[in-house]
Amino acid sequence: MKSSVSSLLTSLLLCTFVAQAAPHDNMNATLWYQTSAEFKASAIQTYQTAALQLPHAIADKSWTALPNQTSGYQDLPVAIIVDIDETILDNSPTAAQGVLLNVGYDPKRWDQWVAMAAAKAVPGAVAFVNKAEAAGVKVLYISNRECEKRGDNAEPCPQKADTLRNLKAVGIKKVDASQIWLKSEQKNWSSEKESRRLLAAKDFRIVMSIGDDFGDFLPDVKKNITPEQRSALVDKYQDYWGAKWFVLANPTYGSWQTILKQPNSQYLQSVPAAQ
Ligand SMILES: [Mg+2]
Repeated sequence: MKSSVSSLLTSLLLCTFVAQAAPHDNMNATLWYQTSAEFKASAIQTYQTAALQLPHAIADKSWTALPNQTSGYQDLPVAIIVDIDETILDNSPTAAQGVLLNVGYDPKRWDQWVAMAAAKAVPGAVAFVNKAEAAGVKVLYISNRECEKRGDNAEPCPQKADTLRNLKAVGIKKVDASQIWLKSEQKNWSSEKESRRLLAAKDFRIVMSIGDDFGDFLPDVKKNITPEQRSALVDKYQDYWGAKWFVLANPTYGSWQTILKQPNSQYLQSVPAAQ
């Protein structure tokens, strides 16, 4: 009797342990993002490399980071395009909140976070942006933060003022609303950023693109595409990486993940079966 009670207790403890041991899907990625020296160093490395390239990019009038900026751009003022989320601003507290609540992405929860304007900066980002602005380079923030009314407030895009406030709060010295181009702020400004890049290319020689998602660099890479096709595009534009295009690591979300079909375990490349 005693032993059956004890084995029942052991089973219960084991069940509890197994239940607790099943982590949220985003646990490791969020921990890496928030705690690792490796992430911090890689972000600083990215921005310091960009800063080293900047003088060459400014001086060389044929230098453009947009593959389709092919003529009539050489004497335009110089600009760089940066994404905002997980490029300039670190929104990992929302990922951590999702892990702790054991929930997935929720646009309402996200918008509450945007309204707080409390994101810290991605390491290295502020120093780089301030350096670029000081060198006379316009920084254009092309972001997929959604423009939408909030509650009964008539303001069509309160997210824009929130974002500006947050960018200033992290220490960006020279930024105004005209530099922030949010998703759906204008007709045809969808999550596909190419239309906004083309618009920027009319007035500026775009010397760098910086982002955490492949869609921050190229069109048509965020849906109906396989990992292999994306990988081939990375190779096609090999000369851009670390020179004109700078990518920040983001294992917590992104089109890298949303393009995968379920079950996503089908993409794991394991060791060959033993003969
Ligand atoms: Mg981003």
